[in-house]
Amino acid sequence: MPLSRSLRSQPSSQICLLFVLYPAVNYMSTTQKEKKLPGTRRYKQIQFADDMQEFTKFPTKTGRRSLSRSISQSSTDSYSSAASYTDSSDDEVSPREKQQTNSKGSSNFCVKNIKQAEFGRREIEIAEQDMSALISLRKRAQGEKPLAGAKIVGCTHITAQTAVLIETLCALGAQCRWSACNIYSTQNEVAAALAEAGVAVFAWKGESEDDFWWCIDRCVNMDGWQANMILDDGGDLTHWVYKKYPNVFKKIRGIVEESVTGVHRLYQLSKAGKLCVPAMNVNDSVTKQKFDNLYCCRESILDGLKRTTDVMFGGKQVVVCGYGEVGKGCCAALKALGAIVYITEIDPICALQACMDGFRVVKLNEVIRQVDVVITCTGNKNVVTREHLDRMKNSCIVCNMGHSNTEIDVTSLRTPELTWERVRSQVDHVIWPDGKRVVLLAEGRLLNLSCSTVPTFVLSITATTQALALIELYNAPEGRYKQDVYLLPKKMDEYVASLHLPSFDAHLTELTDDQAKYLGLNKNGPFKPNYYRY
Ligand code: NAD
Repeated sequence: MPLSRSLRSQPSSQICLLFVLYPAVNYMSTTQKEKKLPGTRRYKQIQFADDMQEFTKFPTKTGRRSLSRSISQSSTDSYSSAASYTDSSDDEVSPREKQQTNSKGSSNFCVKNIKQAEFGRREIEIAEQDMSALISLRKRAQGEKPLAGAKIVGCTHITAQTAVLIETLCALGAQCRWSACNIYSTQNEVAAALAEAGVAVFAWKGESEDDFWWCIDRCVNMDGWQANMILDDGGDLTHWVYKKYPNVFKKIRGIVEESVTGVHRLYQLSKAGKLCVPAMNVNDSVTKQKFDNLYCCRESILDGLKRTTDVMFGGKQVVVCGYGEVGKGCCAALKALGAIVYITEIDPICALQACMDGFRVVKLNEVIRQVDVVITCTGNKNVVTREHLDRMKNSCIVCNMGHSNTEIDVTSLRTPELTWERVRSQVDHVIWPDGKRVVLLAEGRLLNLSCSTVPTFVLSITATTQALALIELYNAPEGRYKQDVYLLPKKMDEYVASLHLPSFDAHLTELTDDQAKYLGLNKNGPFKPNYYRY
């Protein structure tokens, strides 16, 4: 059955047709209102890299000419959850120097080692088990290809989970060229499997900065192929196209951006009147926010701490800075293991929530001498200062779950009187002259992304949102979206959630006609106004 018909025929699961036939509801009014989002605090910390250095030379496949680039957070944050099982140091020859072909004779890719494809395929198949929403999208699209003709240039982490997304996009009719948004995060075997399957992928674990931009360039700059959609995570690809190939935007139908940083850049472009195509902010969709921030952190905080330190949490005193979505997730997990949890907050509403959830709200100074673990998740900077670090007790563990590595003032620890000892991967002991040690994890970068795994199911939700955003932008009739940044329509958010319900054998209740009328709702959603707080 064609995708559009199959979706229409399932009112009981509240599935609405979101693609070609998605009703032209009230897009402008909601999205215009929601555009104000970047004015809120969480966006202010991020600077648009206007000062990004220009690229003076084009890299060549064999050349090693110097390319400078902005240090984008997303491209440099270590992301070992996605790390390749195959060590990139096993072979010192750069993939750029190698001549490789897949079994069909194509060399339209650049990966570490194409021979790892079989191993990578297994990894992708394992990921597919927990990404049933994307697999069901593929099945529904058997007759109808909502992305037929789409030429998507993508820049994301290249992991088994994103491979499931990329292959779903291909199954929906798209051609894809892909690079990595992070120089450390590529699973080499997965990149090999994608290349073997015919995806033009340019990525490997441990790229240099030259390599990073070279890979992006190879995706964009291809004779006889021009992208008409962008899927970005961090904004580097979008930035590169703006700087180097602005004409490409004449054909681009839309940008889908996943990260806080990239979304912020898009809003800045929009504000400056420089955004020349519609863009979809998937970062702020409800499903993404709740699952990525709250549930993902609830699942991964303990994993990251245990893998690095073997600490036992029962009875330990932990202070969590920030009781937003990430903080709430971390605290729930810590409390469940019997830790004594303190919260610091600047916002009285979040502070009150913490009180109602049974946590003591304190100033960091009040508890800093006694706590065993300090976790930051504020999205702010200098939350833990050198003064705090000086006052911590011996063996105190310090880590960050927020986006930026400036929440803990790690730079202030690079002074001559302190000794740094790397005791394990991602674990440093910083030693004071009196022998006191502070255990610093991942040098203050995101703990869970650096030291643990992120659940596949969470990534499935994000990937499904990205796929639907691409489909929506690609198929939207002229005029539905202007040169602006849009949030996903609420119905689409609900659709992403509904696609994941079968995994739990969850059964939605259907509104009766009478109930729908009483609540003033369409029986097929959306079920909540845009201002609803979940
Ligand atoms: P949020 O805005 O919901 O919560 C942050 C909280 O920190 C707010 O309640 C704010 O009032 C509080 N805060 C700000 N400055 C503070 C200070 N100096 N002291 C104490 N509290 C302070 O944001 P969130 O969704 O919880 O995200 C927090 C950070 O985590 C962001 O940087 C986000 O990008 C990042 N994040 C991380 C992951 C992950 O996997 N580790 C996932 C999603 C988001």
